[in-house]
Amino acid sequence: MSLSTSTNSDAPARGATFVRSRDELRAALAAARAEGRSIGLVPTMGYLHEGHLSLIRAARAECDLVVMSLFVNPTQFGPNDDLDRYPRDEERDLRLAAEAGADLVFAPPVEEVYAADASTAVEVSGPLTGVLDGDAGRRGPEHFRGVTTVVAKLFNLVGPAVAYFGQKDAQQAVVIRRMVRDLDFPVRVEVMPTVREADGLAMSSRNAYLEPADRERATALSRALAAAEGGARAGSLAEGLDSARAELAAAGIEPEYLEARDAETLEPVERLGERPVLVAVAARVGAARLIDNVLIDPTNSDT
Ligand code: AMP
Repeated sequence: MSLSTSTNSDAPARGATFVRSRDELRAALAAARAEGRSIGLVPTMGYLHEGHLSLIRAARAECDLVVMSLFVNPTQFGPNDDLDRYPRDEERDLRLAAEAGADLVFAPPVEEVYAADASTAVEVSGPLTGVLDGDAGRRGPEHFRGVTTVVAKLFNLVGPAVAYFGQKDAQQAVVIRRMVRDLDFPVRVEVMPTVREADGLAMSSRNAYLEPADRERATALSRALAAAEGGARAGSLAEGLDSARAELAAAGIEPEYLEARDAETLEPVERLGERPVLVAVAARVGAARLIDNVLIDPTNSDT
């Protein structure tokens, strides 16, 4: 099946081809590949918001052909995760993706991605996937194994020159960079800034789970990160983290974690030195588990 989004005469003529199978994907990419056109890939789980659209726009600005994948990847969800209730709206996603500049949307069913007897996974081992969200008491390293496996498969299926990810999922970006380096994927990884609501809340498909009162409380996460950065720059990282904890506590939020780590190695850090530091937070707010982070670059005071 291959549908095209409709275009109307007022809007710029923009349509996206929509495919569900690997064969259709290959066929749709064949001409671009033969002509040596650069392919940009934006992997998503759909229910698009401005964060996703910023990645598509970045790909549009740099690449000849922009592919967005839309796949709620079951292997990155744990048994108690929200796979069954993950929000979906494929029709809207297709329209928004096309408007933002996607040429091709690949939205496969699960059985198109994983054979029933699939027995191979791609795993980044060690501290990158064992800390923060990868801690065994949280989502665990299996979460990242699901992510790297599906991203490796998408790289093989699409063959992008550039793949776009969001800083919102900072640990995921670090893990994917390591996979690309370790396995020599011929892909450049671009990590784009976190897009936020006007009140600071990082955009996330999971924000849809928030009841109005929890939506209000959730703004404490970005305030906490701003306090962490302000405190770290003005005094010490420890003071910054204390202020962040106080912001969360004032909103009645007990974080799953609030930690400062080296932005590349994810080793714990005690104080700002020369290398960028990632302050990352995860917390349950009402029905949503939210994550957010700030990157503190000590060599640049206006980040
Ligand atoms: P998801 O659909 O949540 O798996 O996200 C797909 C891609 O969009 C990932 O690379 C995310 O890091 C990125 N992304 C999600 N939320 C944001 C945001 N608020 N700002 C920038 N990128 C985002």
